[in-house]
Amino acid sequence: MFKPLDINENEEKKTVKPTDIEQVKCLIIGSGPAGYTAAIYAARANLCPVMYEGLQPGGQLTTTTEVENYPGYPEGVTGPVMMEDLKKQATRFGTDVRWGMATKVDFSGEIHKVWIDDSKLIEAETVIIATGATAKYLGLEDEKKYAGGGVSACATCDGFFYRGKDVAVVGGGDTATEEAMYLAGLCNKVYLIVRRDELRASKVMAERTMNTKNIEILWKHQTKGLFGDGVVEGATLVKNKGEENEEEVTIKIDGFFLGIGHKPNSEIFAEYIDTNEIGYIKTIPGTSKTKVPGVFACGDVQDDQYRQAVTAAGSGCMAAIDAERYLSEKHA
Ligand code: NDP
Repeated sequence: MFKPLDINENEEKKTVKPTDIEQVKCLIIGSGPAGYTAAIYAARANLCPVMYEGLQPGGQLTTTTEVENYPGYPEGVTGPVMMEDLKKQATRFGTDVRWGMATKVDFSGEIHKVWIDDSKLIEAETVIIATGATAKYLGLEDEKKYAGGGVSACATCDGFFYRGKDVAVVGGGDTATEEAMYLAGLCNKVYLIVRRDELRASKVMAERTMNTKNIEILWKHQTKGLFGDGVVEGATLVKNKGEENEEEVTIKIDGFFLGIGHKPNSEIFAEYIDTNEIGYIKTIPGTSKTKVPGVFACGDVQDDQYRQAVTAAGSGCMAAIDAERYLSEKHA
């Protein structure tokens, strides 16, 4: 079924020992809700999936506290517990879940090659990419200091905890304005911290944001730091008043939300599959298929619109079904 890798093909591949080469039917890269759902379906379809968890086992949800919008959990569930449950469900049907990170791929042949941690080589008939996206942070020390104590990159996940309070959102694009609008429905006041004097967001979102009474836009402001005793109690901002004239201002807030975009984790695949201008993997509409036969994508790495656990899980299911159908046709 598999053509063995010619380890003399070039110098680089000579470094892979034959014992470090493994052949699998279905390789899943990434372990968020998309990856685990793909694993559950693939395992139940006898594809014997092997999953590499990546740098953040469980994905972005493990950084959130309560998940209250995933159907089937009437009392809510914490992100880490939900991911543990998904993992148990995937392993129950035989998914081989492993620690490791895909570092390089070669999708030029019929069998897809994926290097794990730059050493082990997996030759896979099908690959399901579920590597997710990573929220961008400003890079301030205080973001780490108050992680879990008032700093969040997901208003839909964490906004509920700030009901009736004052919060701030950083950014001026569609993500930030959507987060600000969502939070405005829950919070007393929302500051939108925008570094320029205009929004990058779509016209309709920009207008809606500017017309929402409890959103105050702080134009030409940048965040310098956060303060508070253990949890966020405020932020120090710098207002650019033009001609290098700056003024420091503080705002009192309980929550600080990042809305400066997400970075899809698609770099290592970009040579072989199509991505849009900001790196999200392009799939054939209505499917999880990439332009490479046998390579599928699901979850946030291919979704810049919805980015919810439940939509990621749905697309993971699609990827496993697409992989199963691909293999059935191939071996018919
Ligand atoms: P964008 O890149 O569009 O916007 C990022 C925003 O954050 C910009 O206002 C940018 O400022 C600001 N920003 C970036 N870095 C910093 C920084 N270091 N300090 C302060 N501000 C910063 O990202 P989005 O995530 O908003 O959107 C990405 C894509 O996804 C877009 O195409 C968008 O339309 C789409 N999207 C669509 C949605 C929908 O249709 N429902 C929802 C969310 C996103 P500046 O403008 O000065 O560069």
